[in-house]
Amino acid sequence: MRTTRMTPAQARRTRRAVLQAVVDAGSRCAGLNADAWFRADDETADGWQPRRDSAIRLCTGCPVRAACEELALRNGDGEHDADELVRAGLTGPELAAVRDHQADRLAVAADLDRDTEGRRLDELTVKLRFAATKNPDKSAGAVRTVAASQAAQNAEVRNLAGQVREIRTTRRARAGWEVAA
Ligand code: SF4
Repeated sequence: MRTTRMTPAQARRTRRAVLQAVVDAGSRCAGLNADAWFRADDETADGWQPRRDSAIRLCTGCPVRAACEELALRNGDGEHDADELVRAGLTGPELAAVRDHQADRLAVAADLDRDTEGRRLDELTVKLRFAATKNPDKSAGAVRTVAASQAAQNAEVRNLAGQVREIRTTRRARAGWEVAA
């Protein structure tokens, strides 16, 4: 049987999606309250420190920590002078230090991420347009009623629109826009 191998360039372009899938599948924080990894707006350093230490402990035993750290670095999480979050067992200033240290590699990775997202956004937008304009009468058959086809179509449109919204929000946040316009 012939196997198709991914080229190194293709592997680099799909790395972000692979990292996200790894984190989604195995993170220790899945299902837990995400607030545990973030300092509240008015929280004192004394209040945050024990919560921060406990988040770091949880991350320490997380099987997907390396992938989580890579994603956090690619996302630009963490600032030198803001101790307000934990990702992959690192505080914001620690993440910023690692990002500085790996600046060249991360700049290339961020460009690839943007390319990959752009292509994905294009694909999803075309699929969304197609799904939204499909005629449910034509999808209905002997066992599927028009109402069932319409419901399935609505679900597909909602799902695709959600994915498009998520990518756009991420891109806008990265560009410094707080809320999707
Ligand atoms: S390393 Fe920490 S923040 Fe990252 S997925 Fe695991 S538990 Fe969550």
